Amino acid sequence: MEEKEKKEEKKHVCSICGKPSELTICHACEDKIRGEAVEKKHEIDKAGRTDSGRR
Ligand SMILES: [Zn+2]
Repeated sequence: MEEKEKKEEKKHVCSICGKPSELTICHACEDKIRGEAVEKKHEIDKAGRTDSGRR
C-alpha cells in the first residue's frame, strides 16, 4: 500500500495546470500556450510593421 502511494506521488503532472500527464505540459496547455504565442507573434508582427516599415 505504501508503494502505491509513492507511485502516485511520483506521477507526472502537467507543470501548467497540475493535472496528471505523462508530458511536462499536457496537450490542453500546450495548445493554450501555442495559441498565446501565436497571438503574441501577431502583435510583434503588427508592431514591427508599423514601427520599422522596412522591407
Ligand atoms: Zn496542463
